[in-house]
This record gives sequence, C-alpha cells and structure tokens, in this order.
Amino acid sequence: KKNVLIIGAGGVAQVVAHKCAMHNDVLGELHIASRTKDKCDAIAESVVEKGSFKQPAILHTHELDALDIPAVIALINETGIQIVINVGSPFLNMSVLEACIETGVAYIDTAIHEDPRKICETPPWYNNYEWQRKQRCADNNITAILGAGFDPGMVNAYARLGYDMMDKGSVTDIDIIDINAGSHGKYFATNFDPEINFREFTGTVYSWQDSKWQSNKMFEVKRTDDLPVVGVQNSYLSGHDEIHSLSANLDVPNIRFWMGFGEHYINVFTVLQSLGLLSEQPVVTAEGLEVIPLKVVKAVLPDPSSLAPNYTGKTCIGDVVKGKKDGVDSEVFIYNISDHKEAYEAMGSQGISYTAGVPPVAAAMLIATGEWDAGKMVNVEELDAKPFINLLNKIGLPTRIKDADGDRALEFDI
Ligand code: NDP
Repeated sequence: KKNVLIIGAGGVAQVVAHKCAMHNDVLGELHIASRTKDKCDAIAESVVEKGSFKQPAILHTHELDALDIPAVIALINETGIQIVINVGSPFLNMSVLEACIETGVAYIDTAIHEDPRKICETPPWYNNYEWQRKQRCADNNITAILGAGFDPGMVNAYARLGYDMMDKGSVTDIDIIDINAGSHGKYFATNFDPEINFREFTGTVYSWQDSKWQSNKMFEVKRTDDLPVVGVQNSYLSGHDEIHSLSANLDVPNIRFWMGFGEHYINVFTVLQSLGLLSEQPVVTAEGLEVIPLKVVKAVLPDPSSLAPNYTGKTCIGDVVKGKKDGVDSEVFIYNISDHKEAYEAMGSQGISYTAGVPPVAAAMLIATGEWDAGKMVNVEELDAKPFINLLNKIGLPTRIKDADGDRALEFDI
C-alpha cells in the first residue's frame, strides 16, 4: 500500500479524494492539504458521509501553502506519504515537484506549470519548467507522471494506443476532440477556475502541423463532427499542453486539440475580451482603486464547483487517429462518455472535475502496484496504456473505440 497526499481542495481534489478512499486497499492513508483548511475538511466530511472508504482508514487534513517548498517537504516527512497527487492550482506545480524530488516520493499532476505573471505559457510547454527537472528525477529514481488528468492524461494514452494500432510510422494525424454537451443552467460560467480557463483562450492558439508549430487565433478554425452519444458538435482549434509532449514522443506530423463551444459562450467571451475584462494587467479606477479586470470577472462569475448540483448532460472526449492499417488508410476514434448528473450523485462533483480527477487516482494505483513506478519523469504516452485503460474501465471512466469494425468497449487482455 502507498499512502497519498492530495494537494488542493477544489473540484478535482474532491473527486480524487473520493476515488482514493474507494480504493484504499491499494492506496493507504489519505491526507488532503490546501491553502484553505476548511475546504479540505469539507471534502473529508463528504468522503466520510458518502461512506467512500473501502476499508477502515486514516484521513487527515492540513493547511499548506504549497508555494513554500520547505513547508511541503515538512508535511511529506511528517505524514510519511509515498505519493503526492497535485491537483492544486497549476502555479504550484514546480514547488510541489521540488519537494517530491527532495523527499524521494512519487509525483502526479494534471496540468502544466504556469507562471501567474504570464497570460498563458507558450510552446514548448513542458520544456519551460517540467522537463528541465527530468535528469534530477532520473538521478533520484523519482516517479513523476505529468499531465495525468483527462486532457492531458487519458487523451495521451488514447493517442499512444491509436498510434500503436496503425502501421509503424504511418500516422499522419491525431485530433483530440473535447466536447462538453452538458448544461449548467447559468447565464454564463466556466467549468473550472475562470482565471485558468480564460488564459487558455486569450492568447495565441498553437498547434502542431507539418511537424512544426503553427499559430492561430481562438475561434478561427472550426470543425464539425457527428460524435457518439452527443451527436453533431462544433469544436475550435485550441492550444493545449499535451500537443507538446505528444509531438516530442510520437512521430506524427499533425497533432491538434479541438474544444467544443456553444454560440452563447463564444459571444459572451468575445464581449468580455473586447472590453478588456479578461486582462490580467491592473487598471486604476476614477477613485484610485487598482484592480485586475480578470480577477473581478472571476469574483462575479459562479464558483465552478457550485455548478455541480444542477449540471445535466454528457461529455465526449477522445482522439481521432489517422494512419494506415496493413497498408490501407484507416481512422480510429478512441473516447469516453461521462455524465454530469451521475458524477454528482457519485461524488458531489460536475463531469469536468470527475473526468480530470479519476485518472490521477488510477495513475497512483498503478504506481502502488509497480506497473507505472517508472523511477523517472514521464508523460502518460510514454507508459503502457493498457493497464491504465483496463483499470479506468473498472473504476468509473470506461473507454470505447469506434473504427471500421464498429463502436465497442475497449478492454485489453494482459
Ligand atoms: P480549483 O481552482 O477548484 O482548486 C485549486 C485548489 O488549489 C484550491 O483548493 C486552492 O486553494 C488551492 N491552492 C491555490 N493556491 C494554493 C497554495 N499556494 N497552496 C495550497 N493550495 C493552493 O481547481 P480545480 O480543482 O478545478 O483544478 C485543479 C487542477 O486540475 C488545476 O491544475 C487544473 O488546471 C487541473 N485540471 C486538469 C484537467 C485535466 O483534464 N487534465 C481538467 C480540469 C482541471 P483555495 O481553496 O484556498 O483557493
């Protein structure tokens, strides 16, 4: 058994905590640490209330400023944990990783590190911070699994599987499509932290095309797909962390990320951006008050976790992989469908937090069993995807595959 420290106490942490508890025959003691201890306590209470623990268990909460490396080191030593699942804000990633390298414990996160002073990180994303620490992880035998949420995360495993299903060197395109066909009933809201959410869309959109980076504007390039369960959906070329690691780890000339948006979201977003309300640069009011417009917008928008109780509908996220199979042009769609209402009933969260929170728990379980205990820093596509997919089929995120042979559940004999 490996004891776990969860860092952060937001929507994703809520799911991680429930899932860790449900599988504490593999994962042992559970610790939740975040800036606001009350939020950790609320998660702990809901875990106990829902009776999530599979076996009698130890569960502790802690107040922690995860930017303070000595404080993170002290907590790791004090609790004696072996795996950190970092689902705090992405500004914390490098301080938490440093503490893991210092203490010799495994590290898992679900997003690239961000510098709060920048609008959004630019490619080569993982080279900016994470991969600079690759050698130190290898030298110290530290397992660090980067981007192990859904996207990045499961979509990286899907890319690897699709790539391996085709003839060697034949894959021309990997298109990751992320559709949230759910409805939260609010006039306007973001599914996770508005500051992080908007940062993804205000800057340049980077994609990997013809084996080089290409720049576009948000909402400039659109595609329409008829997808399983969610039907016909529009999505727009967007920038995303996994394009960088996939382009470095797989020999594929075109790797793109497409995010689905409704007309209403695009209209409201465009108005906010055109007015300058998504800027992270301070402005001074007539009264001499200095404010950051983006922070004000965040303050007036609904708290993403408050969306959960009324969220209905489904998400469909997956990878279209194009290449040749036995010399013949071939296309495969590997995907998951999740339901917002089911996620709420199971663990009090909305579908986006659910899909992001279950995979890092599967990664932790595979570290505990040794299958993913790589002893170095890796992105998900560098690991064997089969045990990950099989485990996620069992613990609440089933994978399906659609190709010339039909649409069916994907499961591996291993
Ligand atoms: P939230 O904003 O809801 O939660 C972030 C948590 O981090 C909060 O509890 C916050 O504390 C805590 N935090 C912030 N600063 C500090 C600090 N200095 N020390 C300790 N704790 C701190 O985020 P989500 O739960 O929605 O997302 C969590 C992570 O998951 C993010 O990195 C996000 O990018 C990623 N994500 C990944 C997805 C994927 O599929 N790969 C999808 C969705 C999210 P406080 O409560 O005090 O504000």
